[in-house]
Amino acid sequence: MVMVKNMKKKKHTLKKRYRRLILYIIIASIVITLTVHFVKVYKYHQTDEYKLLEKGYNANTVSNVISSLTKEDINTLLNKDKISNLNDIIKEKYFLERHLFDYIDYSDENKDKSLSDVIAIINVGANKPWYTDSTQTDESKKTAMLVNKFHLLSNNYDAGEIKNFSATYAYGSVRATKEVYDAFIKMANDAKKDNVTLVLSSGYREHDYQEKIYSDIVKKNGQEYADKYAAKPGSSEHETGLALDILSTGEGAFTNNFHKTNAYAWLQEHASEYGFILRYPEGKEYLTGYSPESWHYRYLGPELASKVKSEGITYDEYYAFYLE
Ligand SMILES: [Zn+2]
Repeated sequence: MVMVKNMKKKKHTLKKRYRRLILYIIIASIVITLTVHFVKVYKYHQTDEYKLLEKGYNANTVSNVISSLTKEDINTLLNKDKISNLNDIIKEKYFLERHLFDYIDYSDENKDKSLSDVIAIINVGANKPWYTDSTQTDESKKTAMLVNKFHLLSNNYDAGEIKNFSATYAYGSVRATKEVYDAFIKMANDAKKDNVTLVLSSGYREHDYQEKIYSDIVKKNGQEYADKYAAKPGSSEHETGLALDILSTGEGAFTNNFHKTNAYAWLQEHASEYGFILRYPEGKEYLTGYSPESWHYRYLGPELASKVKSEGITYDEYYAFYLE
C-alpha cells in the first residue's frame, strides 16, 4: 500500500517537473524569438535601404540606388537632403557615377535644361568655360583620340606619315595621315560612282600654322570670337591629320552652302562606312564648342565611326561615356 502511494507520488513529481521543463522551453523560445526579431530590426535600421526609405525615397529609387551606386556615394546621399530627381538621373542612358553630384548640382542650378542635356554637358565638361582645366589628351588612343577645347594635343605631337592629295581631290594643298588619305580616296571614288563630287579644302595643319590662324583671328576679331570660330593651338583636330574639311564643286565649293548639297546628303549616309563622322553637328554647339560645320569630318575608322553614328551623339559625348 505504502509502495503504491510512493510510486504515485513519484509519478506526480515527474509530471510536475516535465510541465515546468516545457514551460521553460516555451519561455526560452519566446525570448530567443523576440531577441532575434529585435536584432533583425536593429540590423535593418542600420541598412542603407532603411535609411534611404526614411529619407523619403520610394522603394524603386532605393533599389536602383543600392544596385547602381557605391557605398561611399550612398553615404554622401544620406548626408544630403532628398534629391527629387535622383532616380531619373541614375536611369539616364549616359549616366556616369563619377559625375553623380555634379549632375545633381547642375540640374538644380539649371532647371530649364532637360536631364539628358545635363548629363551630356557634365560628361563632356561643358559646364565650365571652354579651355578651362584643359588636359593633354591620351594620344595613345590614336585614331580614337579626342581633341577638343578640354583635351589638347601636346606641343610636339607627331602625326606620323603625312600624304598630299592630288588636285583631283583637293582645292590647293591638302594633307592627311596615310590612313585618312587612303580612306578619303576610296570614299571620293565611290561617291563619284553615285555622281557625287567630294573635294577637300583643308586637312592636316602643323601646330605653328594653327597658332598663326588663331592669333590672326584674335587680332582681327578678338578672343571671344576666335574661341568660338577657331581652335586654339593644340585643340584643333586638324593638327592630328585625322580631320578633313570636305566640300564639293559649284555652289558646294563654299562652306556656307555645303549643307544644301547632295554631297553633304551623301556623306550623311555613307561617311561612317569609310570611317568618317560629322564632328560639329547643328544644335550641338553647347557640347562641341563649335558652331555647326557641315564640312568638317573626323576620321575614327569604320568600326568606331559606325558606332558613334548609330548612337546619334557627338564624339565628345561618345568618348566621355565609352572611352575616357
Ligand atoms: Zn575643319
